Amino acid sequence: MMKFIIFLAVILILYYYLRKLFSPWTRGTFRSPGAGRGASGNRPPPVTDELVQDPVCKAYCPKREAKSMVYKGKKYYFCSMECLNKFRKQHG
Ligand SMILES: [Zn+2]
Repeated sequence: MMKFIIFLAVILILYYYLRKLFSPWTRGTFRSPGAGRGASGNRPPPVTDELVQDPVCKAYCPKREAKSMVYKGKKYYFCSMECLNKFRKQHG
């Protein structure tokens, strides 16, 4: 009988131990369907924002946010309208 009780105690301890071991893991898998795939995919986001240089202040800014202007058939990009206007003044 005593052996049975010890056996039960060992089972209980093992059970708690295993539950402790597996709880972060189960929580992880529970949370991960989206995040897990993202982590395993771990690709850098596609660079859609091409950087363009402002010819006036020489700053680089994403093309999407840049102000553009066509001058003598060439397209120029500026960080701001101020730079665009400066360029316009400088180049007639
Ligand atoms: Zn600028």
